[in-house]
Amino acid sequence: MSGYAFVIASCCSCGVMICCNPNTVPSIRMLNGKPDESGSREPLCRGCAEALNVAKVKAGLDAVPIRPDAYDAIPEEELPF
Ligand SMILES: [Zn+2]
Repeated sequence: MSGYAFVIASCCSCGVMICCNPNTVPSIRMLNGKPDESGSREPLCRGCAEALNVAKVKAGLDAVPIRPDAYDAIPEEELPF
């Protein structure tokens, strides 16, 4: 029998608690609380991901699509851990 898992995380930007799919949630690399390409990927809430996309587009960069399942439960067989 398989089921679904709710993965609870906190947004690395604003700290709000979110339910997310760890395979599809938008994320940025963080090290010691600051964006750093050598850090580990940390999840962003929908509001912070949308704000980041607005800033990226203003800077002439491509927005990162936010997948429809990014903040949903995940089938347990797809859990990365
Ligand atoms: Zn946030």
